[in-house]
Amino acid sequence: MYEDMRQKEKLAVIGQMATAIAHEIKNPLSSLKGFTQLQQEKDKDDEQYYPIMLNEIDRINAIVNDLLILGKPNTAVKVAKKLLDIIDYVISVVDPHAQRKDIHIQNETDSSIMLLCDENQMKQVFINLIKNAIEAMPNGGNLTIDSRIKDDQAVILIKDEGCGIPPEKLVKLGEPFYTTKQNGNGLGLMVTKKIIEEHEGTFAIESQLKKGTHVTISLPIAK
Ligand code: ADP
Ligand code: MG
Repeated sequence: MYEDMRQKEKLAVIGQMATAIAHEIKNPLSSLKGFTQLQQEKDKDDEQYYPIMLNEIDRINAIVNDLLILGKPNTAVKVAKKLLDIIDYVISVVDPHAQRKDIHIQNETDSSIMLLCDENQMKQVFINLIKNAIEAMPNGGNLTIDSRIKDDQAVILIKDEGCGIPPEKLVKLGEPFYTTKQNGNGLGLMVTKKIIEEHEGTFAIESQLKKGTHVTISLPIAK
């Protein structure tokens, strides 16, 4: 019990520090991005490094944003929203990228499902999970989102035909900074889990190596 408290206190202090540091990084980062863009416009004939520099700045920004979400206590403002609209929006954002990789996204979401949720946080959840599915299918394939109501819960299944996850790696998912990607930060699933738990939902991952991954989310519906 005593050890438990110490562990909780430690995590709280780490969370506060991460938030403070993330805030400190945000301002210089946004000015760095602004000046990089200005310089890029000036150096139009010799701009080969600018796209890389801007991309790296965006990556740092994404890490900082994830740390800010993870460090904050529950801030969800929940209202009734149509699940189909949220998923359609996320698909419209990622679809150009998916099509370039020969990935076909199919949305089988019941249009009657209403969630009691923070819309932006829920968009973040689906962006994280759908991006992971796309990144798991470098040679294309089908990505299916299947949502239905079961026992007063919305059950959302995200299925990909990607590389899959071996059992010894499956247990590591959700650990901070655990990633198998060159450009990954290993915070996406942690953020996803936090948001779903703050909505009194659950999520589970099942995977078969070289066959694909199924993520199942369960969330309370708005009545
Ligand atoms: P990141 O995507 O930045 O690596 P995440 O927290 O989103 O961080 O995911 C952590 C790791 O979980 C990934 O690096 C990958 O190894 C594994 N993973 C997550 N989703 C999938 C998926 N759909 N298929 C295969 N592996 C996955
Ligand atoms: Mg990810």
